[in-house]
Amino acid sequence: AVAVLSCSHKITQPKAAFVTKNNLDTRVDSVLKLMTLDEKIGQLNQYNGFWEITGPTPKDGQAAKKYADLKNGLVGSMLNVKGVKDVRALQKIAVEETRLGIPLIFGFDVIHGYKTISPIPLAEAASWDMAEIKKSAAVAAEEAASVGLNWTFAPMVDIARDARWGRVMEGAGEDPFLGSQIAVARVTGFQGDDLTKRNTILACAKHFAGYAFAESGRDYNTVDVGESTLQNIIFPPFKAALDAGVRTFMNSFNELNGVPATGNKYLQRTILKGDWKFDGFIVSDWGSINEMIAHGHAKDSKQAAEIAINAGSDMDMESSAYVEHLATLVKEGKVKEALIDDAARRILKVKFELGLFDNPYLYCDENYEKETVGKPAFHEAVLDMAKKSIVLLKNEKELLPLKKSGQKIVLIGALANDKTSPLGSWRIGADDNTAVSLLEGMKKYTGNALTYVKGADVAVGRTEFVWETKINMTDKSGFAEAIAAAKNADVVVLSLGEHGLQSGEGRSRTDLGLPGVQQELLEEVYKVNPNVVLVLNNGRPLAIPWADAHVPAIVEGWQLGTESGNAIAQVLYGDYNPSGKLPMTFPRNVGQLPLYYNYKSTGRPMMNEPESVFWSHYQDEKNTPLYPFGYGLSYTKFDYSNLELNQSSFSNDGKIEVSVTLKNSGKYAGKEVVQLYIHDIFASITRPVKELKGFEMVELQPNESKKVTFVIDKKTIEFYTANSKWEAEAGDFKVFVGGSSAKTLEADFQYQKN
Ligand code: BGC
Repeated sequence: AVAVLSCSHKITQPKAAFVTKNNLDTRVDSVLKLMTLDEKIGQLNQYNGFWEITGPTPKDGQAAKKYADLKNGLVGSMLNVKGVKDVRALQKIAVEETRLGIPLIFGFDVIHGYKTISPIPLAEAASWDMAEIKKSAAVAAEEAASVGLNWTFAPMVDIARDARWGRVMEGAGEDPFLGSQIAVARVTGFQGDDLTKRNTILACAKHFAGYAFAESGRDYNTVDVGESTLQNIIFPPFKAALDAGVRTFMNSFNELNGVPATGNKYLQRTILKGDWKFDGFIVSDWGSINEMIAHGHAKDSKQAAEIAINAGSDMDMESSAYVEHLATLVKEGKVKEALIDDAARRILKVKFELGLFDNPYLYCDENYEKETVGKPAFHEAVLDMAKKSIVLLKNEKELLPLKKSGQKIVLIGALANDKTSPLGSWRIGADDNTAVSLLEGMKKYTGNALTYVKGADVAVGRTEFVWETKINMTDKSGFAEAIAAAKNADVVVLSLGEHGLQSGEGRSRTDLGLPGVQQELLEEVYKVNPNVVLVLNNGRPLAIPWADAHVPAIVEGWQLGTESGNAIAQVLYGDYNPSGKLPMTFPRNVGQLPLYYNYKSTGRPMMNEPESVFWSHYQDEKNTPLYPFGYGLSYTKFDYSNLELNQSSFSNDGKIEVSVTLKNSGKYAGKEVVQLYIHDIFASITRPVKELKGFEMVELQPNESKKVTFVIDKKTIEFYTANSKWEAEAGDFKVFVGGSSAKTLEADFQYQKN
């Protein structure tokens, strides 16, 4: 009877009807009972795939070893296997050739789309549009599931305050409140409401935890942060992902306060599996178990395995440490078999939840794959997402929108004619040269009347895996042609910024200006024609003070994916009125980093007219950012007025209603993200000068007004206090409402505890 419940092709007959929340644990246990120690350990082992082992006869030694392990039931999951054909071939081995026939789970970095690429996650965050972000994740899930995948290593929910760190492109920016909402949107988008459906995939909240706080923004560097920052800033999006039902977590490469995250008991057992009662599984980051040796925390791979399993890492991604050493460690009494059981149970449970035991080939349908990949509906969705991600940073002289006729426009910049760079980093399912370039997008409006000149190359740090040496970063031979063309134009559109592979993993920078000779190109062109529209393409905030001081119009066009050129062109020509708001602060100078809006005051707070040097500042740069968090313009104009509180204090379970009037006083219909921030003026642990606590997107016709109301209650003011728990402290507060973190109306309120 036990075996009947467990079901897989080997373990007698499955019936979907058996899968209910109530008997899930029974089914998992029924499988676990049949397993040897080695087979249980096998479930904790994840191998990288690619063709090396999916081919019929694996050649090199390592691939042959992996292949043998697979046949012996010593592999629980594979990553980086692409396409139904390969997935099916591997699944067949697991299901038909191993003793118990336990299906594999196939993971892949579906970070912003599989083949149809949506904007990089940081750009999507700039939309502040949760429904759209959720849809984008759902599209990615559907496409990825159709090629045989059932698990994405996304979303990355690391709060990031340092733009030098290349992986800021993968996250939702610097704010825990916005980051938490986006975490929920992405998790529910990927996972849908039923994991057994073939258009949903498992999500993975990563990287737990603190990864983005790498010292000096250098990827993989040491992380040392206190409990308040962990609890109040870093953890909230992870907790939000968990509450939204995320079934897996990934730990991270960094050490946290001296202990690598992979071997960190506090993170994995105390917080995640303890306080938060997470009952899915944790996968290590790539090779991070063995990396504990280089960290200086484990003496060898065997000890690394011991530390990782004891600390709560359930699945070993590509270290082979578990499969090689756990059995011995159990025999030696260094690891309790109960811990292996627990990890295996978690993984099996998720496999049941995905429906894999009932139909291991659920995701293996070539016809469905063919119909689904690159569907027109996906292109529409990523185009929509891309338009909503664009942020208008500056627009003077009414240079934008461009006129659809009667204007001589010259387009300059290598990025404008690049069909790969807009795909950004982490799009390993997509082929090069598959994005719509800006040149192509603009030509839809101008036909061949548009003049295009390259001007200069974008410096490429490296391509996906190797250093790129082809590009001459100092070549100015294209300047003359660009300058000559610019002279005769009514408007010059310059597309400048970072190559798509200049941000992402392992791509930290110390200089956040325009790479290579692009800054010089900009200045030279501006000299002959100041009617410049600068279109930025970049995977992180840039420091572009010269451009801000001189160039009349600046559009943040990020790396917007497959439909990038169409989206930017629609904004430039006014067919879409930009509504994006920055999810991350843009500095004036890289020396200001880390720079973020929700900083703490000091004993020597910011002054408008400082009288001495003894206040917290730089001698050679302002404290303020170039563009603050939450900032973004529209072609129309929004006015805020009448900030009103229905009462000035509340207690216990009471609340305050905060309202403001928003008016569209410009010429175009448009959307505005109305933002609410609070400041807890004094507290047991000092609080940031501003914290986002609410936002609402409002769409208004010219001359139309709307009253927008937010509610402040106990939840709004709660934080992780000196009592080591989330609670509301009595005290005085300020509330701010406006269109960015900098420009706001303000009022006071109190919270009392009776
Ligand atoms: C990254 C992860 C990613 C994994 C698998 C690692 O290098 O840090 O975010 O999911 O590789 O590709």
